[in-house]
Amino acid sequence: MLPFLFRRFRSLETKVHELNYLFWECTQRCNLSCRHCGSDCFTSAKDQDMPLEDFLKALDTIPNPGHSEKQPASGSQQPKSFNQKSGRGKAGSQRFNTRRLTVVLTGGEPLLRPDIDRIGKEIRRRGHYWSMVSNGFFYTEEMHRRLMAAGMNALTISLDGIGETHNWMRGNPKSYDNAIRAISIAAKERRLDFDVVTCVNKRNLPQMEEIYSTLLSLGVKRWRIFTIIPIGRATQEPDLHLSNQEMVQLMDFIAAKRSKPKHSPPPANIHNTNIPANDAKTGANGSGRPAYMEVTFSCEGYLGKYEEKVRPVRFFCHAGVNIASVLIDGSICACPNIDRDLFSQGNIYRDNLYEVWENKFQVFRNRNWAKKGTCSRCPQFKNCLGGGMHNWHASPDSITINDHSSPQSTLKISELKNPLSCHYRRTNT
Ligand code: SF4
Ligand code: SF4
Repeated sequence: MLPFLFRRFRSLETKVHELNYLFWECTQRCNLSCRHCGSDCFTSAKDQDMPLEDFLKALDTIPNPGHSEKQPASGSQQPKSFNQKSGRGKAGSQRFNTRRLTVVLTGGEPLLRPDIDRIGKEIRRRGHYWSMVSNGFFYTEEMHRRLMAAGMNALTISLDGIGETHNWMRGNPKSYDNAIRAISIAAKERRLDFDVVTCVNKRNLPQMEEIYSTLLSLGVKRWRIFTIIPIGRATQEPDLHLSNQEMVQLMDFIAAKRSKPKHSPPPANIHNTNIPANDAKTGANGSGRPAYMEVTFSCEGYLGKYEEKVRPVRFFCHAGVNIASVLIDGSICACPNIDRDLFSQGNIYRDNLYEVWENKFQVFRNRNWAKKGTCSRCPQFKNCLGGGMHNWHASPDSITINDHSSPQSTLKISELKNPLSCHYRRTNT
């Protein structure tokens, strides 16, 4: 889409601000101790898991006029992937959500919740989709069956390297084998909208080809790539951050994979997962698995000349436009990796979630405030709007963090100086 048309689309989308994704940080507990964990999770969390009933009460504030009480058959309709949404309408004066809401369970590790099946069933009973972001450690065949029976629609598993590289990132010697097991199980499931995400750093960058071949051989159809921003534990690990030259290398890798013909023959199965031999003619192996895997760079920031080479659509930070979250303490925010102390818009324990969505979130929907510091005179601002909201973090020496436990607290935008990273400058020089 031409840039000016895309900007018009973005502006309309922002005006309508339909809520399509609601992240729920259902636990802060995690079985792993990842070096790059942006949410700075803990093996035993500071905050207790939020009771399901509390979350459901908030969820029930969201109108769902298209929902009939009858629960849809599990996996019968899939949510549209992020950035591939389309269509909306109105029923009378009430917003009509034709793009059904997806509740995304995140953490921490959601599989540590003993009531995970019940969570899924309650969300589906309300007519919403649900999905999960998991490290895959506990994702066995039995767990897969339980989650599918609870109506799970989509799943994302993390893989951060081959063998010891993944284990090093994840801080557990079994994490790679378990992640591969999870990926093999999920990739076989046709009713699941499944993808793998990789957080790229200096150690796994040289392994990108091998990760690509591994995922393809396991039957994965979509691979999402992102980089690390210096928040949470990642601030202590400078080696995790790519240099500008390495960022360019990564962009070139993704662009090359995306330009690959969709029916090219896949590499050999290097994981002995009993996947039948590949059919180079059809581009699929005998099990119907794809020979082509879509590789996408995530929505981190504007990339200039790489925009249409590494993504299916241009950069658009949907935080607060189509994405909200309920965090572990009840705070209402957007993507979970956003500075929650600064950007939370309310709390489900005192506010109506949907009213907050409708009437607040202005800082997400009008980003003129971001025209400051390095962004102030940037000719790309109209395309970028200051990059992803997750890039506007308070650093201890540049800002006083607000106390958002008070209903009167207001965002002190003036105290933010610069985004943590400008992807455009890093990749277009
Ligand atoms: S300086 Fe970078 S982050 Fe800021 S608007 Fe320009 S391209 Fe975007
Ligand atoms: S905040 Fe970051 S992760 Fe969330 S939509 Fe914006 S760019 Fe994407």
